[in-house]
Amino acid sequence: MHVVIIGSGILGSSIAYECAKAGAQVTVIDAGRLGGVASGTSFAWLNATSKAPKSYYTLNALGMRAHLELKRDFGATPWRSQTGSLEWRTTEAGRAWQRGNFEQMRDWGYGIEWITKDRLAQMEPDIDLASIGDAPIVYYPEEGWVDPVLYAAWLHRAAREKHGAVLRPHTEVTGIVSRNNRAVAVTLAGGETVEADVIVNASGARSDRDLGVPALPMTSTAGMLGFTPPVPTTLRSQFHIDDLDVRPDGAGRLMIHKASVDTGLASTEGVTTDGPEAEALLEATRKVLPLLRDLRLEAVRTTLRPMPRDGFTCIGAMTDMTGYYVAVTHSGVTLAPYLGRALADEIVRGQPHNAIAPFTPDRFFRDPSTASVSAELVGVKPVEGPA
Ligand SMILES: Cc1cc2nc3c(=O)[nH]c(=O)nc-3n(C[C@H](O)[C@H](O)[C@H](O)COP(=O)(O)OP(=O)(O)OC[C@H]3O[C@@H](n4cnc5c(N)ncnc54)[C@H](O)[C@@H]3O)c2cc1C
Repeated sequence: MHVVIIGSGILGSSIAYECAKAGAQVTVIDAGRLGGVASGTSFAWLNATSKAPKSYYTLNALGMRAHLELKRDFGATPWRSQTGSLEWRTTEAGRAWQRGNFEQMRDWGYGIEWITKDRLAQMEPDIDLASIGDAPIVYYPEEGWVDPVLYAAWLHRAAREKHGAVLRPHTEVTGIVSRNNRAVAVTLAGGETVEADVIVNASGARSDRDLGVPALPMTSTAGMLGFTPPVPTTLRSQFHIDDLDVRPDGAGRLMIHKASVDTGLASTEGVTTDGPEAEALLEATRKVLPLLRDLRLEAVRTTLRPMPRDGFTCIGAMTDMTGYYVAVTHSGVTLAPYLGRALADEIVRGQPHNAIAPFTPDRFFRDPSTASVSAELVGVKPVEGPA
């Protein structure tokens, strides 16, 4: 079976690795280089907290577990850090939300606990305790983050060296050829045609591009990250305060994200290290980490966050098109290894997973009342945030 995968971001790389491991002949085609677009500009927090409804929470929890399971294949997973997350809220409304989320997550079996300020001080002495005031603090010991481009590099190397997968970087797919409602080949920008038994479109925010077969309705939004220069900090955990997310990014650099800054972005262009967006990230972070005083950001990155129209993952066989699958989602870093395995099981081993059943493209192309497995998603919005 020849599986052609469009896109080598964290999602395409996961699908490629799992399909190749399952015995398929795999070709990955990417318009750019290995590692993706959104995947290289991601906060990359591995988490399932606050994800709802239950089916979406479960999918994310399976994603976190699949990241752990990659240790079975690779021994060490140098692209992944599990140092836990800390969270507190500065407003009463935020604290009420946090209490409700705590109960829900505990009921669903998620790793979550309240910790004291003393414990936080022991864990992360660089955090200014005065900035926390009397806010209750939540600790998520199982959370962490991933370096998605390194992840793609490791999975691709294994797919190629152990299972014969082929990567064609800097090669754009311009069309999908179908016969009698069956996808049979992709056409490339140079005019070449590559035949396939199965085509998987993992092209991220470009999933709404017209390739000659039905395209997905997308509502991708601009996202921004700020990066400090190396700072003398011992911070190990990531922390989340209201809509601010901060974590180490190697070599003493910190990565900063703030959801309200993303909301204010008109596009992915024109954001600079000395602009108002950068200042907003720094100002919020300095309140908690005084060592950032007098410091400017070293880099900012922006990209589109791949987002199917209803905000939920879209994965599985395309409606009324045999041999064509789609895989696009926000929270793709958390979800990638599980979605890769689920698709490989369905495509190569013929074993569909119940957990992805509510998330197929059918909900966009059929009457929602007939796509009953997706009923839990109707009228619900996933929680806004980096993941
Ligand atoms: C600011 C920000 C913060 C985020 N934070 C988190 C987080 O904390 N946790 C989390 O889990 N997720 C997070 N996400 C989301 C996550 O990064 C994405 O869901 C994930 O990276 C998507 O991966 P992907 O492989 O689908 O897409 P991409 O990485 O965008 O890869 C798609 C690939 O397809 C290729 N391509 C597109 N069109 C074609 C074509 N026609 N022919 C050939 N190749 C093509 C592109 O070149 C690209 O390499 C965040 C995203 C952003 C922007």
